[in-house]
Amino acid sequence: MAPRITVIGTGYLGATHAAAMAELGFEVLGLDVDPGKIEMLGRGKVPMYEPGLEELLQKHVAGLDGSTGRLRFTTSWEEVGEFGDVHFVCVNTPQKHGEYACDMSYVDAAVSSLAAVLHRPALVVGKSTVPVGSAARLARLLTELAPAGDEVELAWNPEFLREGFAVQDTLHPDRIVVGVAGERGEKLLREVYAGPIGDGAPFVVADYPTAELVKTAANSFLATKISFINAMAEVCEAADGDVVKLAEAIGHDDRIGKKFLRAGVGFGGGCLPKDIRAFMARAGELGADQALTFLREVDSINMRRRAHMVELAREAVGGSFLGQRVAVLGATFKPDSDDVRDSPALNVAGQIHLQGGQVTVYDPKGMENARRLFPTLAYAPSALEACRGARVVLHLTEWGEFRELDPEAFGAVVAERHLIDGRNALDAAAWRGAGWTFRAMGRPRA
Ligand code: NAD
Repeated sequence: MAPRITVIGTGYLGATHAAAMAELGFEVLGLDVDPGKIEMLGRGKVPMYEPGLEELLQKHVAGLDGSTGRLRFTTSWEEVGEFGDVHFVCVNTPQKHGEYACDMSYVDAAVSSLAAVLHRPALVVGKSTVPVGSAARLARLLTELAPAGDEVELAWNPEFLREGFAVQDTLHPDRIVVGVAGERGEKLLREVYAGPIGDGAPFVVADYPTAELVKTAANSFLATKISFINAMAEVCEAADGDVVKLAEAIGHDDRIGKKFLRAGVGFGGGCLPKDIRAFMARAGELGADQALTFLREVDSINMRRRAHMVELAREAVGGSFLGQRVAVLGATFKPDSDDVRDSPALNVAGQIHLQGGQVTVYDPKGMENARRLFPTLAYAPSALEACRGARVVLHLTEWGEFRELDPEAFGAVVAERHLIDGRNALDAAAWRGAGWTFRAMGRPRA
């Protein structure tokens, strides 16, 4: 019989994983400590914005017209313990307040609650991004706490999905990495992932520490690539070069590649910033901090981008934000998501607000989350309204709809035609053609 699957923690990762597992043909039960989330998911509603996820949920959530009925949600740990053969742990692992280290309290709480209801053989599979060494510790905790004792096994299966492409990335991953302690875990996970493996996804089997490190190493590499091109942008600005042309030219080299070479206001979100910091903190605990000192530089190049954007905006409004209207296009950390965690756009908006600017923000999907995080900023119902009366317009999240904006129509509502493209994504010639001063990061002034 096919293993029955539970998913603990139904946020961005867990909700997607649960729906994808149902799509792969399994019976799935999702659990979260947030009853509001569970209530919504149980009605086939996604508590966040992720393209394609709601459709997938509605295809599978039990009780909805025409659904397969393979997917259910609960807040009951007992139900989870009785139901599942394979339990995926997908809870959050944020940065600790005031520290670089990862806050493992949510994972520890989830694994402890789960362990208490495991009365029969089970495989617990960690998917959250954790400091290396966590899996070995949690495996011991499970054996200690679970009534089924050593019949409960742990595996670590880091997740590489990208918000905005989460459904596609989960159903068609470019690799599956599992850290296992024994053959049983590997066999069960091969069964769970038989679909993607059959479609050609590489299945990499490793020990616990290597599997945990694969995730933090991958994120560190991606962050480094972004900060590398942003460092080149700094040099380009000093030398009057063009980082967009530079990125295109170096990207033709296969060893470098074109992806993740877009200079701009830098990376943010609920993963890259906190993951590289937690990695540095963990390396320090292990006595290997020297190995990762470069990540400190990666982080500081990235944070400098936000400060630089504020500088460019200040210059555009004549040297002081006091009493000046500033329009910010974008609030989420990336397009096609409503995620505003550590968003460069909101960080820049917040800094300008604190310096006396009258900031109005518009984002296609992130307004509600942004309002909750930055209630003191003003929000407009459209890009055009956000720009009304603005002395400068900042383009900070690369939503498709911002590429379609009409420079003439916007020129008619702003106080002055100044645009700063923090994502190097807009058509400079079109905006300049309509009489705008157009500045972009790492590009010549005109
Ligand atoms: P999230 O905050 O959106 O979701 C976490 C969920 O876990 C929340 O719904 C929360 O209520 C729930 N939760 C917290 N404590 C719980 C407990 N004790 N028992 C049950 N549920 C509990 O976070 P996310 O973005 O889905 O990230 C989850 C993990 O996946 C993190 O470790 C993150 O680094 C990793 N990850 C995220 C992404 C991404 O793009 N979001 C990609 C890869 C890996």
